[in-house]
Amino acid sequence: MNFKPQISAQERLEILKEKIREASSLFLGYPVSKDFDYSPLFEFLQYPVNNLGDPFEDSTYKVQTHELEREVVAFFARLFRANPKDYWGYVTNGGSESNLYGLYIARELYPKAMVYYSESTHYSVKKNIHLLNIPGIVIRSQENGEMDYEDLERTLQFNRHKPAIILTTFGTTMKEAKDDVSRIKGILRQLAIQDHYIHCDAALSGSYGAFMEPRAAFDFRDGADSISISGHKFIGSPIPCGVLVTKRSLRDRIAKGVSYIGSLDTTITGSRNGHSALFLWYAIKTMGEEGLRKRYLHSLETAAYCRQELQKLGVEAWSNEGAITVVFPKTPESLKRKYQLATEDVTHIICMPNVTKAHIDAFIADYKEELQKQPEPELEEAFY
Ligand SMILES: *Cc1c(COP(=O)(O)O)cnc(C)c1O
Repeated sequence: MNFKPQISAQERLEILKEKIREASSLFLGYPVSKDFDYSPLFEFLQYPVNNLGDPFEDSTYKVQTHELEREVVAFFARLFRANPKDYWGYVTNGGSESNLYGLYIARELYPKAMVYYSESTHYSVKKNIHLLNIPGIVIRSQENGEMDYEDLERTLQFNRHKPAIILTTFGTTMKEAKDDVSRIKGILRQLAIQDHYIHCDAALSGSYGAFMEPRAAFDFRDGADSISISGHKFIGSPIPCGVLVTKRSLRDRIAKGVSYIGSLDTTITGSRNGHSALFLWYAIKTMGEEGLRKRYLHSLETAAYCRQELQKLGVEAWSNEGAITVVFPKTPESLKRKYQLATEDVTHIICMPNVTKAHIDAFIADYKEELQKQPEPELEEAFY
């Protein structure tokens, strides 16, 4: 046991604070923004805010932020071009819960469905499919991380007698690839699979997808039935959170009333974090759509700079169209650790809004040094 009675709780907190400060100053590999200031909301931490129940229903518990939560849902419903008369949603504990919810509605609507998702799908989806006990089929990914539509079509064709749930990703974890919802909708139409549901996992890119030029197909008008985002990623929050938006008409088909709370039990958890709804509301109120667009443009510019500087070092860096993620071959272990770079077969830097050219310069300087340290490759060919 690592028990240290000589250190007071206060000292422990100071040490921890310093550790967290240091760890958060350097990271470039995870998609979380750190440039937020929620200090005007701190007094709300004195209250047991709990958004129990459905945010669109009246409830007997009044220490809640349902009204602001509804505004958060409305904001994203508009960004995602939902029918203004037919949308519903709530603030979740993160993208994983939002994905669980989308798949839950889908399964309730089509209990005999198969779910199709690509190799590049986030790990939360596999777990959710397992929890919901839906049979699933993995679809191949293209080199850039996007779903292989031909493989999808073949697989759907083979199972066309069954309802289909398609899990698309708008911004895959490693390469920020975006699955084309319109194209998938077209495949379903062509195969005459009428019983289908499309859930779009837009954890990272959903917050700026509406500002991409050219536009990428991912939202309600493109054919999605539900869309999830993470609130602590592009927008930024000290507490992990997310949003799920779907169609009210779909939610109505699975709603069950609970008399104890005087509301509808339409959410995954009963008690829900009312502070995160407050934080998200404050963020979108202060930024607005215009602020979000600016954050995206800044991130795009940083990503272009990052690619350019890596390419100058001879590193083959690239990005998917409209992406703020820069992908390149595996980096030396020391850099990976220092900058907390997630690595699979490739490495990436995600140029979140708080990342500046100065951060990139620091990383590039370290990279250069690392390259100089490495032994020169043997010039075998020179001897022939
Ligand atoms: C981060 C992420 C998730 C999970 O979101 P959490 O908010 O961490 O639960 C799901 N899908 C994708 C593509 C992600 O990037």
